[in-house]
Amino acid sequence: MIVMKFGGSSVESAKAIQRVAAIVRDHADRQPAVVVSAMGKTTDKLLQIARLSAAGNRRAAGLELAKLRQFHLTEGSYLARAAQAIRLDRDVCALFDELDRVLLEVADSGSLTPRLSDAVLSFGERLSSVIVTAGFRQAGIDAVHLDARDAIVTDGHHTQAATLFIETNALLRRKVSSDQVTVMGGFIGATEDGVTTTLGRGGSDYSAAIVGAALCADEIQIWTDVDGMLTCDPRIVSGAHCLRSISFAEAEQMAKSGAKVLHPATVLPAVRHGIPIVIRNSRNPNAAGTRVVAESSCDGAVMSIACRTGISLLQLIPRNTPVTADFGSEIWQAFQRADVQFELIATSRKELSVVVDAAALTPEFLQRLGELAEIEVEENRALVTLVGQNASRNPSNLTRAMRSICRKQGRSVLAWCSDSRFAFVLAAEALNSAAEALHHEFFAQPDPALFIPNRASVMVVERASVRNSARIALNSLQ
Ligand code: ADP
Ligand code: ASP
Ligand code: MG
Repeated sequence: MIVMKFGGSSVESAKAIQRVAAIVRDHADRQPAVVVSAMGKTTDKLLQIARLSAAGNRRAAGLELAKLRQFHLTEGSYLARAAQAIRLDRDVCALFDELDRVLLEVADSGSLTPRLSDAVLSFGERLSSVIVTAGFRQAGIDAVHLDARDAIVTDGHHTQAATLFIETNALLRRKVSSDQVTVMGGFIGATEDGVTTTLGRGGSDYSAAIVGAALCADEIQIWTDVDGMLTCDPRIVSGAHCLRSISFAEAEQMAKSGAKVLHPATVLPAVRHGIPIVIRNSRNPNAAGTRVVAESSCDGAVMSIACRTGISLLQLIPRNTPVTADFGSEIWQAFQRADVQFELIATSRKELSVVVDAAALTPEFLQRLGELAEIEVEENRALVTLVGQNASRNPSNLTRAMRSICRKQGRSVLAWCSDSRFAFVLAAEALNSAAEALHHEFFAQPDPALFIPNRASVMVVERASVRNSARIALNSLQ
């Protein structure tokens, strides 16, 4: 059997869901189980509504909620007819009534606790899975809905719950149908006592891997809105090429570095079971996609460029002493206690340099760090990371990257590397041009054995090089 996961963009509207139904029908002979994300940006909207409710802004919360309700009812009404439509309308209304009650609880408590946040956000996937099931049935697929909270058992770490695999695997094996298409929401689960939890933002990929691993799937397909893992975020570089394959480790590095096409933890259950993952485009189902496999297809080459924004560079300078192990351990403990993720990018005798999400730098956390060290914060930074197995061990990669970055920046930038990635910290406004320059340097003529070339961008490069040779030939004649 296979697991097919459809992200928010793939189920953003009735039309998108009809496309998804056609894709699932095409895979009927492979016994698919389907995992869906919330429709479009629903999770962000739910979060916004929950925050408004917590802040006592009931009117604004009510208006946004009414829009979200109407959106789900309208899209649902395009998908189902007759008795099916009446049932769907009733189910969607019941979910929104329940959401109303949870939001009242949020308003009464005056704060969005992690438990309440999970309860509110779960509605995105609960709604989409019900609507997609109805859409599938209308399209002639024998689909059955499974509430993910009845199958994915987690601990009680709200907003980032960990799966209890023994219980989850047993439930999934019992509840996922082998002769019907089971449709369930990703991202959500419940504790053993039945309290709703979530697996972390972007967690539907993880849900797909959990289901795939439990059922020993032949393949996990992650359907999204791009042809696969690309050589750079297409919103930043227009001529990006599609990778034929990428290793689990490289995909994880990409996700950590900002290319969240695949949730980092996705790879874990699948890696343990050796299950291949393939990233595919629900708007272009004929494209082969990118296979996420155990081994990298190339050693020492740059395979992709990831971009991350919304970060700050933090310099931590000990007072009156050089950087010592004690100093470092106090700092790391402070990060751990505040649950703030960071990347250590440089250590010297004088200071530690780390990058962190700007949103994590709350006044309280900065105050705590300020008690331990002198701190300097550079805001509005971005990170551009080149990923590829052992790419940073190849000096020519480093030289080429440094040159193209510095040519654009006009000065050197902070850089650091590990085996499979090397990265540069830049001013946020310099990110796009730096990414373009790096992409041109490494991918102007992609190796067709490794990449499915973006024909448009390759033609531009070919035309430019023909013009160049013509100019050189002309010059030599003159
Ligand atoms: P979904 O809604 O399917 O979960 P996501 O928004 O999580 O989709 O991930 C797909 C998006 O990731 C793409 O639309 C693209 O803009 C972005 N992205 C960033 N970096 C890359 C990359 N290297 N390759 C492909 N997509 C990328
Ligand atoms: N809907 C959730 C989110 O937006 C999970 C997911 O889409 O993977 O984070
Ligand atoms: Mg996603």
